[in-house]
Amino acid sequence: MNSIQRKAEFYAKLASIEKLESLERWQKEGLMLDAVRAGLIHSLFGAMKAVSKNKRFLKSWGDSDIPGPWMMIWDIHPWARTLIGDLVDKGEADVREFEKKITKYLLRSEIWRLDRSTRRVVVHPTVGGIIFDGLREVIQADPFLFDRCHICENIFVPGKNQKYCGKSCATKALAPWKAKYMKTYMSERRKIEKKGRSNRRS
Ligand SMILES: [Zn+2]
Repeated sequence: MNSIQRKAEFYAKLASIEKLESLERWQKEGLMLDAVRAGLIHSLFGAMKAVSKNKRFLKSWGDSDIPGPWMMIWDIHPWARTLIGDLVDKGEADVREFEKKITKYLLRSEIWRLDRSTRRVVVHPTVGGIIFDGLREVIQADPFLFDRCHICENIFVPGKNQKYCGKSCATKALAPWKAKYMKTYMSERRKIEKKGRSNRRS
């Protein structure tokens, strides 16, 4: 899996979750690990503890020892959900509030560093800004990476010719056809059996 794919999978998962606080602890930890693997959070070790006055957030982890990375996920979650969701469902998303938040909390790249050997400027994002930059990056990827599964309604990153989020939804999608087919098949079979029986009788 390449890095943009890994990032997109993380945001797709996030966009499919309605309330972060309703997740089990292992799912919350799993989300943080996914973010680290996608390069959106640097590390879980030695991370600062989260400090916040938001009551919903303070309750969201389950105890008062909230890891800093959980706050980053909490902050980006509503944006992943609305921006990706709106694009998938309506074909457009209003980004003004998102941009406002980025500007207000100084989440934009903080340093432009000139690499003199390659003669290239490398952009250094702020620690909290990486996960915001990442969302912009996956949304603007060409071609567009996201879709909504019509069976479970989750957002997913479809592979080539992939219509549903996974095997279980693809099976479910086929089920009505399968049921119909089985019904016709069984009724045909009954007819043949009946015929066989009446032929034997005569
Ligand atoms: Zn699905």
